[in-house]
Amino acid sequence: MEDLTYRLPQTRTVAAESDGTNHALDARRVAAVPRAVTPGLPGYVVDADGGVLVDAEGNSYIDFASGIAVTSVGASNPAVVAAVQDAVSHFTHTCFMVSPYESYVAVAEKLNEVTPGDHAKKTVLLNSGAEAVENAVKIARAYTKKGAVVVFDNSYHGRTNLTMAMTAKYTPYKTGFGPFASDVYRAPMSYPLRDGLSGPEAAARAIHMIEKEVGAENLACVVIEPIQGEGGFIVPAAGFLPAIAAWCKENNVVFVADEIQAGFARSGKWFAVDYEGVVPDLITTAKGIAGGMPLSAVTGRAEIMDAPVVGGLGGTYGGNPVACAAAMAAIGQMEELDLPGRALEIEAIIREELEPLLELPQVAEVRGHGAMMALEFVDEDGRPNAALTAAAAAACKEQGVLILTCGMDYNVIRLLPPLVIAEATLREGLRVLADAIRANA
Ligand code: PMP
Repeated sequence: MEDLTYRLPQTRTVAAESDGTNHALDARRVAAVPRAVTPGLPGYVVDADGGVLVDAEGNSYIDFASGIAVTSVGASNPAVVAAVQDAVSHFTHTCFMVSPYESYVAVAEKLNEVTPGDHAKKTVLLNSGAEAVENAVKIARAYTKKGAVVVFDNSYHGRTNLTMAMTAKYTPYKTGFGPFASDVYRAPMSYPLRDGLSGPEAAARAIHMIEKEVGAENLACVVIEPIQGEGGFIVPAAGFLPAIAAWCKENNVVFVADEIQAGFARSGKWFAVDYEGVVPDLITTAKGIAGGMPLSAVTGRAEIMDAPVVGGLGGTYGGNPVACAAAMAAIGQMEELDLPGRALEIEAIIREELEPLLELPQVAEVRGHGAMMALEFVDEDGRPNAALTAAAAAACKEQGVLILTCGMDYNVIRLLPPLVIAEATLREGLRVLADAIRANA
């Protein structure tokens, strides 16, 4: 993998003794922030670049999280920093609905260009992933004049009321927060490791449920993550997504791909649906889109996007000018540095370093695409092994490698390194992880 240049040393250093700074900051957090927002890393970040995060005590961690798949171009990419500084020196905000500016339109044009399909497209900009998903549902309802929404087992779509209803896992995302939005139905997902079905078989199972339990005549949209994120980095069997998309087309149902985690070069293609040549009617994006600035989008067929009435979509901050400038720079970096290609190189290195672990009976699968890879752990009876997952992640953290877990059963370690990480840093982090898994297996 080609070396890039970095501002910070790409080293892993964790002091044996703490000077107490992180602890003091954490005491302030506990007093000031509700326990519902409890961070995973003990260190408080003061700097970040390339593949490392530096905390208030000078510890330098290898970052396999990217702020949950956000800082694909790095957390302080010079092109993004320069674009933000320039934008912010002119104006921080006007509200696009009140007084427009060019960068919003430029981001919309860019998204219309890079998303799958060569049909006429339009884009609305918003702030968060959940807000993008909510807007995709609104747009699909306005277009089809139907109400029901189908999502899938294991799915994650956000924390607002509608997206909580769309999200599968109850604890912690929904605990105590009901009642939830109605008219949301959950179909069975393709999960090759667990169901052993081919893509077409799993699609037939899902379509049967949709036809019998929802009815195409009531259904506005099917919303699916082409690679499920929080639910366990589940890659559906080949043929599943195309069959679901084809059924939607035949039944006047809007097919929405939630690419908030998998999109923008992360999977080794621009979008994860590209692996199967699926062209969604609507696509939701966020996270990696703007180099860490809050921005999200719904992009899709022009006639669907134009269904809501004038004034029907928007929001005070959606498409903030500083975030738009960051997005243009971040997407430019993805093109210039060929980050989809780099994500594929990252996949090859992850497979080389971690696939030998498949000799352990506890490692059920190494799966994923690009820089969105995961390991699923089981116990001696083949049941989900959350204990090993947590122990390996904790050991990594102690040794200066930030690892995230996921999965309905908390038994998946997911790897989301920045796409600009250096090869040596990546390999060092993976070796720490491999040793931690072997030590705890
Ligand atoms: N959809 C997917 C697939 C996601 O991974 C996430 C965030 N993890 C969301 C939606 C929600 O995004 P946000 O946290 O920005 O609201």
